Amino acid sequence: MAWFKRDKKPIDQPTPPEERRVRTEGLWVKCDSCRAIVFRKDLEENLLVCPKCQFHFRMDAKQRLQMLLDGHYTEHDASMVSTDPLKFVDTKPYAKRIKDAQKKLHMNDAIITAEGQLAGKNVVCCAMEFGFIGGSMGAVVGEKVTRAIELSIESRQPLIIVSCSGGARMMEGTISLMQLAKVAAALARLDDEKLPYISVLTDPTTGGVTASFAMLGDLNIAEPGALIGFAGPRVIEQTIRQKLPEGFQRSEFLLEHGFLDAVVPRKDLKGFLSNTLDLLLS
Ligand SMILES: [Zn+2]
Repeated sequence: MAWFKRDKKPIDQPTPPEERRVRTEGLWVKCDSCRAIVFRKDLEENLLVCPKCQFHFRMDAKQRLQMLLDGHYTEHDASMVSTDPLKFVDTKPYAKRIKDAQKKLHMNDAIITAEGQLAGKNVVCCAMEFGFIGGSMGAVVGEKVTRAIELSIESRQPLIIVSCSGGARMMEGTISLMQLAKVAAALARLDDEKLPYISVLTDPTTGGVTASFAMLGDLNIAEPGALIGFAGPRVIEQTIRQKLPEGFQRSEFLLEHGFLDAVVPRKDLKGFLSNTLDLLLS
């Protein structure tokens, strides 16, 4: 028997110990760039831009449409889902990966295509969702973008696509690569119809999306500090056997080298798009 034993019952505790701590998780966010601790509410009020260093946090597709469009918008083709044509399995089955993403994000694939008004002007506006398998473009994203372009043509409305993507969806193999050609062909028809298309590139826009619709805008504009490229820097360094310059593949570098038409801070984005549409449509 132990030489000391508590013989009285411990005082009744009304709240279990794990609940006695004040919950602060999620209230504060650490900035990925300047490491400042920012109050989440302040960050949200500032359109997810760090108030200290202006670092642009990633914005999801729904927030993006809320920010750009005036109130209500009509979503199109929301029920379209991938058929998993290759029955692809990597660390887990592709079908399961899709199910998990659908459950987490309450959407069926990595893009929302919508019709609404931007500062009073009718537009077709699409926003990609990076949280959905890296915002990758498979058959569904390709088809939805193509239909959005066709809607633009039929209804004679300008098109805006906000890209945020790791590229083509490898789990759909060649079918995902075929989307590049399909979307590019649809954009050529939009061009024939003399309707404006503004591409907005956000962090990150890479791979097959850069290689197709993201770089095919009448204007290609980007948010500050966004990673934009085709292959990643490591692959390029290994191929050309040279060290890449500082800031390579960031919006500002690309603007300087003529790949982009403008770098627009998030708070000015809606105003910029509205002014540009006025110019292009008049
Ligand atoms: Zn910061």
